[in-house]
Amino acid sequence: MIPKTAIEKEIVSLSETLAPVAQKMQGWAEKNIFLKWGVLSRGKFHCLDCAHSWKPDAMKESCQRYINCSSCNGKLKMHQYNQAHLKEIEYFAVLDVCGGFQVVRIICSHKDMKKNCMPAYFHKEVMQHWINEKGEVRTLSLGTNVFSQAYDSWKYYSPLEIRPKTFEISPKYRINPYKVYPSPKAISVLKRNGFKGSFYGIAPQVLFTALLKDSYAETLIKTGQTDFLYHYLVSHSQRIRENWQAVKTCIRNNCKVKDFGLWEDYISLLRWFKKDLNNPIMVCPENLEEVHDRLVEKKRLIQRRQHIKELRQEIQQAQIGYEEQKKQFFGLEFTRENLSICVMESVHDFLEQGDMLRHCVFANEYYKKRNSLILSAKFENKPVETIEVALPSLEILQCRGDKNKVSPHHKQILKLLHQNLYQIKKRMKNKKEQRAEN
Ligand SMILES: [Zn+2]
Repeated sequence: MIPKTAIEKEIVSLSETLAPVAQKMQGWAEKNIFLKWGVLSRGKFHCLDCAHSWKPDAMKESCQRYINCSSCNGKLKMHQYNQAHLKEIEYFAVLDVCGGFQVVRIICSHKDMKKNCMPAYFHKEVMQHWINEKGEVRTLSLGTNVFSQAYDSWKYYSPLEIRPKTFEISPKYRINPYKVYPSPKAISVLKRNGFKGSFYGIAPQVLFTALLKDSYAETLIKTGQTDFLYHYLVSHSQRIRENWQAVKTCIRNNCKVKDFGLWEDYISLLRWFKKDLNNPIMVCPENLEEVHDRLVEKKRLIQRRQHIKELRQEIQQAQIGYEEQKKQFFGLEFTRENLSICVMESVHDFLEQGDMLRHCVFANEYYKKRNSLILSAKFENKPVETIEVALPSLEILQCRGDKNKVSPHHKQILKLLHQNLYQIKKRMKNKKEQRAEN
């Protein structure tokens, strides 16, 4: 992208004045950011760091995960397969100060390893994050191969170019270098805001921008709550802000939180119960898991009670409509021996029948269906099936028992129903007549 704005032009021209990443920095990276590897090939160990090879003393040795090279003293990680080539890619960062900007230079380093050869290295600066005193950041980066699966497959022959402001939301921006070159240079505002040279596992550009523009981050670093800081900046936990009162209580009492997910969940519960978030005993309990679980259970009970209360109101409301629609059928009951079929007269019966026979007659609001009449079939006064009859055709749409299956009384129920459909028809007529009269 061609620099357009004044700040873009300034950064691009300042960038040209930066010295290339020094040889000694690259040398440091080669020693410090990579693993050392060994392979077992044709009964011999090969150190991929110094090309030394030797015969193992015992078979046992060959099963170890790490082994020491007697020539370079390297602690070698044993590669599981006898691979001809081995490649490792890592990032490191060099910090610079230039024109009042904090600069975070990100270098991508390759280490190519091969049996009986010295490893070959390749280093390329792939990004420069330029951060001003207000914590605003602009990035220069190489281009990437857009057809690649990986978001960081750099085009190494492309130039460092200024990227749009939105680069900050790209995953490339958040690449966290494995190590930062020692004795980093930092602008004085950063030191004033709490930076003392450590990164706590946070990418420098992420830590710096936060320290410069976010007072939450500044407070966390200054009070030594670096686990909170990591959680806040790396897990993007906005709940830190929501729970700031509780965080402050932790800071005041120097409490350490181990499981942040659980703790944040727990603080939300405390807020739900309107508990005092200034109380350290409340906010940092010793048995976090236990208190958390207890509160979850308590909340569940309260919500269930609330739900039943709401349900009751809903039922009362629905009952009015149901009576209006189906009152003319109320009182209809057909019986033979121990079997009886009656019209459901209250919405509450739908709830009970649904619960008892474990089907959806209540959940799916059958009591609202204008063109259906719902009846309950009972054997020895216990509900066994629920029947849906279409209105006005009197077709039997459904006749189901427990979990929507038929009961042992299914045939008799249908027989009894068919014998009495005329009674339902009669009640329908009545309604028509009433309407005609009106
Ligand atoms: Zn070696």
